[in-house]
Amino acid sequence: MKEHYCTYCGKDTYDVDIEYLIGGNHLACVLADMPELKDWAKGSTKKKKPVEISNWSKLVGNKFDVMGASFIIMDAEYNGIIYSAWVHPIDDMEAIARVTLFADNMHMQVKVIPPLDYNHIPYDLSSTITKHHISNPSIFIQTICEALLSDATTRDLLLYVSRKQDTSRFKGRGITSLTGLNGSSGNNLW
Ligand SMILES: [Zn+2]
Repeated sequence: MKEHYCTYCGKDTYDVDIEYLIGGNHLACVLADMPELKDWAKGSTKKKKPVEISNWSKLVGNKFDVMGASFIIMDAEYNGIIYSAWVHPIDDMEAIARVTLFADNMHMQVKVIPPLDYNHIPYDLSSTITKHHISNPSIFIQTICEALLSDATTRDLLLYVSRKQDTSRFKGRGITSLTGLNGSSGNNLW
């Protein structure tokens, strides 16, 4: 009677069913020793995990200034696929932009919706960001600002909003309240 030992683990394989053997070695041992097979197995079980931003809602209420125009973030939502948040000029019921972040590929899209009196159709700005950009609300807001500033059309729009806000501040003689402009929520980690 010939003795059979698995060359990988050294155990006796004489009584092991032929279906679980490759050339006298344990099938499991052979497979475990094939890195490319391991990677394949991992790849098939590990789907790309969507990024989790557990405190996305903390964006709401954050105020920021860009090119002299003041904005506030409203209505941050997550539907399992995309994170979204609306940016309003301060004291304006109408949003000026919708920020969308795709959780699976970190693609960020900013849909700019110019006010009616600006007379320009809505358009999209897009970029791909990294985890660093969402490490806290202030950095993400800075990322939004950079996206807005990267586009000439949007820079014109920001100036337009800024001028409009200056006028209403002047007219209102401070009635258009700026309290809380540098609010509390800026620096907390998510
Ligand atoms: Zn073995």
